Amino acid sequence: ALRKLVAGNWKMNGSIAALAELDAIAAAAKANGNIDVAICPPFTLIAPAVARTPELTIGAQDCHAAAKGAHTGCISAAMLVEAGATLAIVGHSERRADQHETDAEVQAKAAAAIAAGMRAIVCVGETEAERDAGRAVAVVEGQLDGSIPRDGTGVTLVVAYEPVWAIGTGRTPSVGDVAEMHAAIRAKLGALLGAEGAKVRILYGGSVKPDNAKELLSVADVDGALVGGASLTAAQFVPIIEGGA
Ligand code: 13P
Repeated sequence: ALRKLVAGNWKMNGSIAALAELDAIAAAAKANGNIDVAICPPFTLIAPAVARTPELTIGAQDCHAAAKGAHTGCISAAMLVEAGATLAIVGHSERRADQHETDAEVQAKAAAAIAAGMRAIVCVGETEAERDAGRAVAVVEGQLDGSIPRDGTGVTLVVAYEPVWAIGTGRTPSVGDVAEMHAAIRAKLGALLGAEGAKVRILYGGSVKPDNAKELLSVADVDGALVGGASLTAAQFVPIIEGGA
């Protein structure tokens, strides 16, 4: 089995005061040394988070594909690295929907993050309508085709499977459906990356909570979790870390 990664995505939540949660999260990360733990706060909190808990892996929720230039309001991978980020989520479904990010843009962002020395977490996942139509696996395979940088390795690349209908809803796929999708993703990564595809961690995301983390994290080819709401407090996130350890 691959070493697990439990990552928290704070989305557009948090504050300097909320960084107090990181103390107990960093302590739990240290106490559970057999897994990797990361928190991705909003851009403005990256440097303060690194200053508060330098021992904790801090990541970003997006990065621009270009190194610099006339892109008002955007942040480059090198800027994130300078702020202390060591990974970047790219292609989250909220950005694919709200910012109309395409697979090609997500692939370019992942490549930029990796080129800057970060790990890229590339997100994929089907909508409810796509699952109901029996197209979930095909949709995710297509997203992987379009958004995975072909030089990605087990060190530089992580995939997060996040069914859109499970995000923030309290609903999760069945263990069988998670196993089926993660097996399909593993096979696709092999087709895209060769032997390296077996080393790329595949996270599950979507309504991961303390009471379902252990079960989801024990499914074959689930190499960790990407956690939204339940990563905002140590009270919720620490039991999830322990569930993966
Ligand atoms: P929730 O855990 O709040 O469902 O969010 C999942 C997610 O989108 C993580 O990136």
